[in-house]
Amino acid sequence: MDIEFIVQGTYLVASALFILALLWMSSPKTSRRGVRAGEIGMLLAVAGTLLRHDVVSYDLILIAMLLGSAVGVPMAYLMPMTAIPQRTAISHAFGALAVGLIGAAEYYKLAPILAPGSFVLWALMFEMLLGFLTCTASVIAFAKLQEIMPTRPIMFTGQRAVNVLIFAAALVSAGMLIFVPASSQLFPVFIGLSLLFGVLLVIPIGGADMPTVIALLNSYAGLAASAMGFALDNKLLIIVGALDGTSGFILAMIMCKAMNRSFSNVLFGGFGQLATGPAGQAEERPVHSMTAEEAAPILELAGSVVIIPGYGMAVAQAQHRVAELYEHLEEKGVDVKFAIHPVAGRMPWHMNVLLAEADVPYDKLVELEDINPEMPQTDVALVIGANDTVNPAARDDPTSAIAGMPIIEADRARTVMVVKRSMSAGFAGIDNPIYFNENTQMLFGDAKKMAEQLVKDLQEL
Ligand code: NDP
Repeated sequence: MDIEFIVQGTYLVASALFILALLWMSSPKTSRRGVRAGEIGMLLAVAGTLLRHDVVSYDLILIAMLLGSAVGVPMAYLMPMTAIPQRTAISHAFGALAVGLIGAAEYYKLAPILAPGSFVLWALMFEMLLGFLTCTASVIAFAKLQEIMPTRPIMFTGQRAVNVLIFAAALVSAGMLIFVPASSQLFPVFIGLSLLFGVLLVIPIGGADMPTVIALLNSYAGLAASAMGFALDNKLLIIVGALDGTSGFILAMIMCKAMNRSFSNVLFGGFGQLATGPAGQAEERPVHSMTAEEAAPILELAGSVVIIPGYGMAVAQAQHRVAELYEHLEEKGVDVKFAIHPVAGRMPWHMNVLLAEADVPYDKLVELEDINPEMPQTDVALVIGANDTVNPAARDDPTSAIAGMPIIEADRARTVMVVKRSMSAGFAGIDNPIYFNENTQMLFGDAKKMAEQLVKDLQEL
């Protein structure tokens, strides 16, 4: 049988599997099947590509596969779930760099023989613009998520004008490269401008808006890969890149809605940060604090408790202890619910995944827009390792870096208990006024140990 027939057949099956993977991954019940379908699809895509007649030597491919596996396999096993966003960002950076470099190689190969204005030149410029800007934007996103760089927005005067000028200059140089064959000396300038624009796109974005950026960079990387498919005449890349690009785009739109951000601002790199807000160093104002022993009787006597988990619960792996706490409180006749913020933790709907893993019944998980009206009638809001997602500055302070972001209104409960280790800021790097309220009690300590202690003290009552 003709090899090309087999290659195109595997591509067709792989594309169908990718579409099914997206469908199945949209529901928690079928998501594992979705992941499997995606994996098989990718295996077929790689196998099909290796069969292609234009592969000249397998030696370098084999070395690259071994090196990639040596890095990738330990990373997959050792990486904690809380580090998934930065891992995704760095994968986008490498993927986008590969796309950009392939585009550059193709440009040098094809530019002398292609007619000015040809479609392939358009596709190559689009691919390289998105590829290179996604590469540097993803590196900055990685540095912010890994907290190597400040998570707070980095701003300077005239930033928007500079961004627009650099983007326009990149477009003009791309136009020259497409239509004027003699302008090929502009090629490194075009690449430099694309790389620089990626940096400028992400530095003004604050920590709290990183989930939307990751989704958007995912989309850019997919669209760049799709353009590469046009340049290389590879149908699989066109389909898979378009799926990746559009699903990332849809996720970015969903995240924008959840975070109350304007999508057009996100697209052009200005998240409309009004001000930088107060610094994130621990404020030296008095707070009220109590021990687990003192907190347990208050929880036992409460009619209703809303548990608000966040990143601290994820990083302490406290979900099982928190589930036990929930069971003990329910046994004692307390009405317990979990308030879910879509960006609590470090992945969209991270808390749903953790609480499902700890077998908390799904109907106990309440989305923020449904729980907020109940907060004023709630006896105790028990915040476990959440910070930005319960920060009232988002609602009350229009100059805050997280102004307008929806929050769980824990501060409206009769009593607020906050479990965290210190007075340090959340991911957005800004102070949280909720800690200084009269009705707030701090329970300083690690989330897992504190939940364990609360269960023990409740048992002894
Ligand atoms: P935050 O990241 O704002 O705060 C987490 C809090 O947990 C910290 O204040 C920290 O305080 C505490 N903490 C850390 N370790 C422990 C521990 N072992 N035990 C107890 N507490 C601990 O959390 P939120 O979930 O409220 O908000 C998530 C933030 O991350 C948002 O800004 C969101 O936009 C951003 N983000 C979300 C992503 C997503 O997709 N979900 C992706 C990228 C960013 P202390 O050190 O004092 O203990």
